[in-house]
Amino acid sequence: MFTDKNGKTWYKGNLHTHTTVSDGKKTPEEVIALYREHGYDFLALTDHWIPSEGKTADNGLLLLPGCEYNVHGADILRGVFHIVAIGEKNSATALLDRKDPDLGAHEVIDAVHACGGIAILAHPAWSLDTCEQILALHGFDGVEIYNSVSGLPHNCRPYSGEVIDQLAARGVVYPCMAADDSHFYDGEDCLSYIYVQADELTEEAIMEALRAGRIMATQAPRFTVTVSPADNGTDKTVHLSCDIVAGDTVAGDNRADAPVETVIFYTGSVWHPARSLTAKDGSGITEAEFNLRPQDRFVRIEIVDKNGKHGYATPILS
Ligand SMILES: [Zn+2]
Ligand SMILES: [Zn+2]
Repeated sequence: MFTDKNGKTWYKGNLHTHTTVSDGKKTPEEVIALYREHGYDFLALTDHWIPSEGKTADNGLLLLPGCEYNVHGADILRGVFHIVAIGEKNSATALLDRKDPDLGAHEVIDAVHACGGIAILAHPAWSLDTCEQILALHGFDGVEIYNSVSGLPHNCRPYSGEVIDQLAARGVVYPCMAADDSHFYDGEDCLSYIYVQADELTEEAIMEALRAGRIMATQAPRFTVTVSPADNGTDKTVHLSCDIVAGDTVAGDNRADAPVETVIFYTGSVWHPARSLTAKDGSGITEAEFNLRPQDRFVRIEIVDKNGKHGYATPILS
């Protein structure tokens, strides 16, 4: 948890993790203890098809109800979709037939919503989800732009920026999230997470913030992105502010006070005169602006700090 320069409180959480209840290597108790020790404020245990219950903040850690559903097995031509459900009041497992080969992603999304939860598209790059397959679905409440366990050594596609950009170019934007999807195989835990801006650490307040998209996806660096109209009436000015907070409690390479060295502006333009900024002299980038033209379709800002840790903003449409 930290307080930004406007006095707003941001809570830190991981919404995707597995335990020995499915294919994880640590027990729920061990997982909860580990994330609590690393300064997390909220956590969801999202075992495959086995829902976990929420729990009021205990010793500073709030548990949100969670579950991960999947459809179409490994058939990428039909579309492998893994969907993380958070905040369900009742589990959608009662509404879905896991063994039904025709069970589709849209039925999962609808069932999660009917049960009061939000539906997050997990690791679309790992799943090889195509833009067309995702566009055929509606109603996601978020998408993982980075999934720690989908990286090496066990997998090789942790980053879903390209498919998110393809969606944004077609006018479809879901709030970007980052998560570990920790199974506790080989140190993929406590790497990628979100902050949400909420006034208190309760399930209601965190769920409201998630639904409203007050989310910052990151591996350490903190930032805010705001938009204002440009003088010409057609462009937009997108402002980036990197909040460098000294004395952060996160240890090692994940320190939030490492200077931001690179800012990348991903857009729908194949060429753009101002694609990135760099400051490798140690001074750090604290502010940046981007002129978003109609032909750019969108801008998605990513920042990289001195330790190579990324922060991921949600795309903004032109
Ligand atoms: Zn998955
Ligand atoms: Zn998972």
